[in-house]
Formats: sequence, structure tokens, C-alpha cells
Amino acid sequence: MLISAVQKFTMLDYPGKCACIVFTPGCNFRCGYCHNPEFVLPEEIQKIKHTFIPEKVFFQFLQKREGMLDGVVITGGEPTMMGDLLDFMRKVKERGFLVKLDSNGNRPDILEKALSEGIVDYIAMDVKTSYGKYGQLVGKLVKTENIQKSIALLMHSNIEYEFRSTLVDEIHSHGVLAEMREMIDGARALYLQSFRPEKTLKSSYEKFHPFSQSRLSETVSFFREKIEKVEVRG
Ligand code: SF4
Repeated sequence: MLISAVQKFTMLDYPGKCACIVFTPGCNFRCGYCHNPEFVLPEEIQKIKHTFIPEKVFFQFLQKREGMLDGVVITGGEPTMMGDLLDFMRKVKERGFLVKLDSNGNRPDILEKALSEGIVDYIAMDVKTSYGKYGQLVGKLVKTENIQKSIALLMHSNIEYEFRSTLVDEIHSHGVLAEMREMIDGARALYLQSFRPEKTLKSSYEKFHPFSQSRLSETVSFFREKIEKVEVRG
């Protein structure tokens, strides 16, 4: 599998576990607020291609971390775009590590295979906006029926999962938040983070604003009426 970068240690990205992070290049979305354009845009990926890490080198590193790390977080870009993602996950599991997968939810077929094979222990999925506004925010490659399927898969699974949303003052009106709450009504966990305008995939987003502290607190309470655990991250 293509690995654009590895972070050797994190206590923040896999709740309750020590893990390393594997980043994959490329994404099928173009979220205007994305703060990792170097892992998304083909022209940016070209510039860092020479720094990619061979899979063999990663597994040599992982072998040395046996007994020290609990798991591996696979993130992007969008990992489900990697044709050999499931093979990679199998190899990590065979070595005795837990696997956490971060995904935008546009490939429920991959999530379903990973779940049915038992090669994933935790999935974090973005819920970016209401179904009606998805295309406008992430681009034309989204299929909202896929987002819907992925949400249902996670909510009916017996693994740990979380939904995550990045909130932009100009985009996430109360009406949009209300629709998002309906989409994941009854979910186990939702993590909210405020948009960061310093580095964005689309320059037009630099003029947008993060949620104020008071709006963020109100939004947490609003989601808590329907979702077990709602927290702010970052
Ligand atoms: S899905 Fe994630 S990685 Fe892809 S463009 Fe959106 S924010 Fe960036």
C-alpha cells in the first residue's frame, strides 16, 4: 500500500490506546476546509512522492514496536481509495496490533468487507454536513447513499466507532446541524472540532470562521439530546 507518511507515536488518535499513524495519499473528496491538501491534491502529492515510505520499511518498524504499541491508525487522504487497503489491514492484524481506520464514508463496500472479516477494531467516520449540502462541501464524487450506508453499517456494528464533524460558522447553520443530528440519531459517539482557517484546500475558505466557544458548547448540548457521547476535540 502507498504510505505517504508515518507518525511513530500518538496517544490522541486512537481513544485509550497508544498507536502509530499511517497516512495514505489521495482523496475522493475536495473539502474546502481540508487542512491536509498535501495528502489530497495530485499535484501536491507528486511533490512529496520521493518521501513515501515503502510498506516493507513500515512493517520492520512495526515489528520493533511489538509490546510497545497497541495499534495502528490508518488515515489519509482517504485510505479506502487504496486498492490493497484490506491486505494491509490483514497484515497489521496478523502481527497482533489493533487497527483503527479513519474514513470519509464514501466506500461502504470497503468498510463492510473490513467489518465482516474482523480486520478492523475501530472506525472513525466523518459526518460533514446534511445530505442535501454534501456535494457542495466535498465535491461531486460523493454519493450520499454511500454516506447513509456507511453510517448504518457503523451504527449496527459491534466494534467501537465514532463520528466526527468539523464545524464552520458560515456552513453549519442550526438547520444543517439539526439534519446532521437526525442522520446519526442514537449513535454512540460524536467528536466535534472547530474549523481552522490557517491552512485550507480552497483559498475561499480562509475567510470563513470557526465556531465561537459559546456556539460550540450549545452545539454539544444539542447533539447530546440524541447521541450518547459528544465531545469537542482539538
Ligand atoms: S475527506 Fe478528509 S482528507 Fe479528504 S478532502 Fe475532505 S478533509 Fe481532506
